[in-house]
Amino acid sequence: MIRSSPGMNDREQDKERMRQAARKHFERRVDPEENKRRKAESRRRKAGRPKPPRRREWTSGDGTDEPETFERIVKAKPLDAPPPRELDVLVVDASARRGTIVEIHRNRMVVVEDDGLVHEMPPPEHRVAVGDVVRLDVSRADASFVAVEPRRSTLARRDPTGRHVRLLATNVDVVCVVLTAVPEPKIGLADRVRVALDGEPVIQVVCVNKTDLLGEAEAITLVEALAPLRTEGMIVCETSALDGTGLKELAAAIRGRTCVLVGQSGVGKSTLLNALAPEGRRETREVREGDGKGRHTTTSSALVTLEDGTRIIDTPGVRAFGLEKVTPAAAVAAFPEFGRTGPCRFRDCLHHHEPDCAVRRAVEQGEIAAARYASYLRILSD
Ligand code: GDP
Ligand code: ZN
Repeated sequence: MIRSSPGMNDREQDKERMRQAARKHFERRVDPEENKRRKAESRRRKAGRPKPPRRREWTSGDGTDEPETFERIVKAKPLDAPPPRELDVLVVDASARRGTIVEIHRNRMVVVEDDGLVHEMPPPEHRVAVGDVVRLDVSRADASFVAVEPRRSTLARRDPTGRHVRLLATNVDVVCVVLTAVPEPKIGLADRVRVALDGEPVIQVVCVNKTDLLGEAEAITLVEALAPLRTEGMIVCETSALDGTGLKELAAAIRGRTCVLVGQSGVGKSTLLNALAPEGRRETREVREGDGKGRHTTTSSALVTLEDGTRIIDTPGVRAFGLEKVTPAAAVAAFPEFGRTGPCRFRDCLHHHEPDCAVRRAVEQGEIAAARYASYLRILSD
């Protein structure tokens, strides 16, 4: 409101209006020093506030909320990939001890130091997985987590909603797909894994277990079914965890490496692991007895180290091997024999329904195994 004295002319009234506006402005204005102080104060308050809790997805390791289906596999990262963003790689005190996570449960994890010392501690807020190399503070009675080292590979899958990625295992060199020979091996799973690992520095081994249950004729059929995989460069082992057949070959394929076992439940992953590492299993059992809670029949991932240094990670509950992103190129690349047929009419032929397709012709003429082609089409339909 303009306070105007009687007798003020228009010009003076205008001036008075401006003076009042200016007064108002300066009354509202905060002194710059005061402004700085307020900002600093707000920053301090924000820093002191506890961060919102992270999603504890990695606790799914104990299997209680683990869906049966291996929904979608996320590619293993190349060896020199930078660590994930949520990873806190600290400059670690040289006295911090190094160890590997061998088990993770909802409220505890087991870490084995390089020299074999076993520690139990609550899992950190970070997303960690079996296979992670971590630094520990062992200066007090209970060892505690300090940091996780960069990973050379990561095996993860999306949960059924597709929104969250769960780490299955890290720092693996070999993915071993375990199939059961009886009633018949689901070889398509091996093909899917091959597509998922396209171009990654991870070796794939296919282990067909329970061969002791095969009759003579069935054994021959199996060898024939596996022939294309061998021809196309996969390492294939036929094993019986019960009578020991083929275990030497399997052990040789993974020796000195970190290997994760993937396959439907019931195919014999745990039995294979026990057959390869009787001493390894005992070690984790002792840890469980040590915590006074008795022995759980655990359904979580677990890492076992064999006497020769080979490490095996068992991942139960993993049934199918969904693919994160199937590019037609990756699918074709997993079937190298398709590249050896003559050219198709179209350069970007998906070998599906296109006319004049050399791959389809090769299948019809028996040059490419019909089962391989069928497996390719199933992957393509994803
Ligand atoms: P996992 O769910 O993949 O870990 O499978 P398990 O190791 O628990 O084995 C499931 C069942 O298959 C058990 O009853 C095992 O005894 C049996 N089994 C495992 N390996 C073999 C094998 O090589 N031959 C036969 N006949 N049975 C096996
Ligand atoms: Zn074609």
